[in-house]
Amino acid sequence: MSSEKRKKGTICVQGGWQPKKGEPRILPIYQSTTFKYETSDQMAKLFDLEEAGYFYSRLQNPTVDVVAAKITELEGGVAGMLTSSGQAASLFSIINICSSGDHFVSASAIYGGTFNLFAVTLKKLGIEVTFVDQDAPESEIAKAFRPNTKALFAETLANPVVKVLDIEKFAHIAHSHGVPLIVDNTFPTPINCRPFEWGADIVVHSTTKYLDGHAAAVGGALIDSGNFDWEAHGDKFACLTQPDESYHGLAYTKAFGKGAYITKAVVQLMRDLGSSQSPMNAFLLNLGIETLHLRMARHCENALKVAEYLKSNDKVAWVNYPGLKGDKYYDLARKYMPTGTSGVLAFGLKGGREASIGFIDALELTSIVTHVADIRTSVLHPASHTHRQLSDSQLKEAGVSPDLIRFSVGIEDADDIIADLEKGFAKIR
Ligand code: PLP
Repeated sequence: MSSEKRKKGTICVQGGWQPKKGEPRILPIYQSTTFKYETSDQMAKLFDLEEAGYFYSRLQNPTVDVVAAKITELEGGVAGMLTSSGQAASLFSIINICSSGDHFVSASAIYGGTFNLFAVTLKKLGIEVTFVDQDAPESEIAKAFRPNTKALFAETLANPVVKVLDIEKFAHIAHSHGVPLIVDNTFPTPINCRPFEWGADIVVHSTTKYLDGHAAAVGGALIDSGNFDWEAHGDKFACLTQPDESYHGLAYTKAFGKGAYITKAVVQLMRDLGSSQSPMNAFLLNLGIETLHLRMARHCENALKVAEYLKSNDKVAWVNYPGLKGDKYYDLARKYMPTGTSGVLAFGLKGGREASIGFIDALELTSIVTHVADIRTSVLHPASHTHRQLSDSQLKEAGVSPDLIRFSVGIEDADDIIADLEKGFAKIR
């Protein structure tokens, strides 16, 4: 069956590893740093990118590539790669096309670690970011663009404030400025949203979250739709369209066509920065993806029940869950994520910051963990934890209020999750 015709559930279970006669049914773990060749010339051709093949697992490994291919098929992309973490995927997505002196624009409502990476670490490397309010009108967001702007970045479902991105609006803004739209699709996963269908060009994932789902392995993924025309903006993206001296003057767009962006990220960034995912972690990730379609449906079903329960509780000041009727992002969620958003919701208590902390401490079934998007229900207070490094004004920019509780609904029985929340409410006034 051709990959276009396969439904997402089938790709989750059967995508990627296609064993031939006598080969293992289950994806093998190629636990090897290196790969053997018979002549010096065979190896030389690999180093010149004249032939494809494995030579060193820092760049590529068969187990890792199979899982990257599965996620690429799920997203409907043309090429993809895994990275050691979601952070590495976000970093690579930008530095693959931006270098010192360049600029990019990002939505401000993004994961705290990504915000820090963009605002602090990339700045030290000479790459500047301008943060924008993703809900602002196009004309307002357009003001952030400069002649040296190379990309627009946002999260499809923002962590932790769970805003839904208007992907078509962002794609339009990016393309009218001749730059790609890069989106982090970690929370909805391709089961609930395929950003390429709405005009996004590049997708990044923290596979650590729902894709793995079991909190077993940290990882990331970078996927290309193959749709952005780098050659049409050749001067801006000379790094892809002009000769790379470290590969004897090869130009990625000419040599690899739609695979140019990912090939460059593998052969240049992985070669030099080495943020590769281990074969063992890729194997665990693949096991997780095999049930992704089933888990996402249950996460969304449970989260809606929890959101409705919270909404009706008089100690709760506000609830953000885009799947909830009346939520500010309900209509956008229906458009871009018709099968559900995710298990993540945010809420605040009338008692403010102190009440939120007391509430969290009283929970028993729910674990206080940095992690999110896990099969087990988890909770976090971003202002005290993930976003702790952000100043008050940066917290405001990211939409993180001091009372915000990030609640990641798992796939346990919803009645037990709600009973646990009642224990929290019993402890506060
Ligand atoms: N993107 C999002 C939306 C996240 O929530 C996270 C981590 O929480 C990351 C990226 C970073 O991923 P990782 O922790 O795998 O490095």
